[in-house]
Order: sequence, then C-alpha cells, then structure tokens
Amino acid sequence: MIIVLKPKTTKNDIESIISFLKQYNVSSDVSKGVDTTIIGLVGDTSSVNSEALQTNPHVERVMIVTEPFKKSNRKFHPQNSVIDVSGAKVGGKSLAVIAGPCSVESEEQICSIAHDVKASGATFLRGGAFKPRTSPYSFQGLEVQGLELLKKAKAQTGLPIVTEIMSPRFVEHFERDVDVIQIGARNMQNFDLLKEVGKTKKPILLKRGLSSTIEEWLMSAEYIMAGGNPNVILCERGIRTFETQTRNTLDISAIPVIKRLSHLPIIVDPSHATGISHLVEPLAKASIAAGADGVIIEVHNNPACAMCDGPQSITPAVFDQLMKKIAAYAAIDGRKV
Ligand code: PEP
Ligand code: MN
Repeated sequence: MIIVLKPKTTKNDIESIISFLKQYNVSSDVSKGVDTTIIGLVGDTSSVNSEALQTNPHVERVMIVTEPFKKSNRKFHPQNSVIDVSGAKVGGKSLAVIAGPCSVESEEQICSIAHDVKASGATFLRGGAFKPRTSPYSFQGLEVQGLELLKKAKAQTGLPIVTEIMSPRFVEHFERDVDVIQIGARNMQNFDLLKEVGKTKKPILLKRGLSSTIEEWLMSAEYIMAGGNPNVILCERGIRTFETQTRNTLDISAIPVIKRLSHLPIIVDPSHATGISHLVEPLAKASIAAGADGVIIEVHNNPACAMCDGPQSITPAVFDQLMKKIAAYAAIDGRKV
C-alpha cells in the first residue's frame, strides 16, 4: 500500500501519520521527492483502514500495490536510487564500469590488469576469488587469498573491489574487505545468502538467475531490502534460451522493463551474456543505449591462458577502445563514464 501525501506536508505531520500506522504492525518506508512525500507500507496491510487514512487532511491518495515486490518498486520510490559505493556512485549521470578478470589468478595478474583498466577509465575492479564452477574439477578460485590479492590491487589503484560471495559464512569477511558484494546468477535464489547480505549495509550486485523472470529477480532484491539493506544494484547477464550461438541470450528489454518497474540501478554483463569476446563491444554499446547504468566486463591480459572464461575475455587494449566507444554512447543522452 502507498500513501501519497499532499505537497508541503510537514515533518511533524508525517511522523504523526507514521505513529498512527504503527498499530497495524506494518513497516513504513518514507520516500521524499521534490514536492511529494510517499509512505510505502510493507507487511500484511489487509487490516489497514485505507478509508480512515484517506480522510486524513495530509493524505492526497491511498493506492494498493498489486506487485509482490514493494521496496524495490518504483511506486514506493519514484526517483532513481543512486547507490554510494565508498564515494563512487552507481545510478545517476555517470556510468559505472566494472572491469577485471573472471578470476583472480596471481598478484601480478590482478595488479597488472587493475592498472590497465584504471588507466582506461574503469571505475571498479572485478575479480572472482570464490568461483561457482559447473565442474568440481575446474579451478575453484584462490578464495581468501584471492581477496587479499584484490586488496593489494585496490591499494595500488584506488579502484573499489567487486567480487562474488558464495556462502553466508563469509559475509563478515566480505563486509570488511570488499566494496561491492556480488551475488552470482547461480545464487540469485539462495535465500539464506540473500537474508545474510540483507543484514549488512554493503552495496550488493545482484545478478539475474540463469532462468529467472524479471519478477523473480526483483523478489530476490526484495529479500535483501526487506532485511534492511537498500543498496542493491541489479545486473542483467543473459538468460537461458534455445539459442546455442551465444552462451546466454542478453535480455536487452530487461533494462527498460526494470527502469519502469523499479528505482534500482541496473548494469549489464555482456561478457557472461555472450561468452564470446567479439560480441562484448556491440552488446555493451546496446546496453548503454538502452539505458543501463553501467557495464561489468571481463578483461584478461592473456585470455588464451585464463583459468576461467578466456573466450569471453577482452584484452586491456581492446577494453581501452571499448571505453571510448561507450563514452560516446553515454554522451548521446547526457551521461558520461
Ligand atoms: C562472474 O561474474 O564471474 C560470474 C560467475 O557470473 P554469473 O554469476 O553471471 O555467471
Ligand atoms: Mn566469468
């Protein structure tokens, strides 16, 4: 349920409405716009007397929200959310460009790639320390040692770290050591993990599940937000379809669909979406043109020898060219990298 207040309702009046709502055992989320304030009610709202609310002199109107996602719903929060990551912003007029290897392999590898992508204008460093591999015989990541190497690369370049968590038992560790906690596609519906990261205030990069609908994806965002963490960044990374030419099928339409349904920022991963390095550039450009708030791109200094996802990784030199191109696409609608 949403309560739209009349313009110029004072802080005291808002507080008295919120204290009136306490009797219904629902939580109230206040979203202040330039002239209008909205109170979003979450929980079992069936007992809320909407007619009584409608007669309150400060209430413009009361609306029932039929979608199951509430806190992530644009109706609850009409302005775009801008997520603050250690001072860097995701959402808003500047694109987030997250670049780096699929996996952290060595100090030399992660630090050299970090320097290269930083020089080209990347705003975040990615690198997997805990890898969700289809085969138990494949490289599983350097785990905690990988996190240490990411910290070294950050100390040298200043780039904030984005890296994937796979288990709730590492939440405290990630909270301390990384800037953005990534929830991978395979864990999008790992509800225990979502609840645990929801207890932190860390920005969460929530990838879309391999075969998840947009509504299921927003419900996963809702788990994190319901726990008290509003800092969710969505990431479209391709979905399973019947097509076999690409690793996944990038759902470009998810970008404007999400922008309509939700206030959360959305970025795109053209590397995992396609699985093929020469497709990264056209789909990165398409994503920005469709309104994505940024991209996450796999960059490796020697893709042929990468321990994971070499075929979709681009070199630092190709990334440098790509940055110039996406900056031009961003400029078309008044944005920049
Ligand atoms: C990754 O970013 O390295 C990754 C495993 O991505 P996804 O969860 O989208 O497959
Ligand atoms: Mn990868």
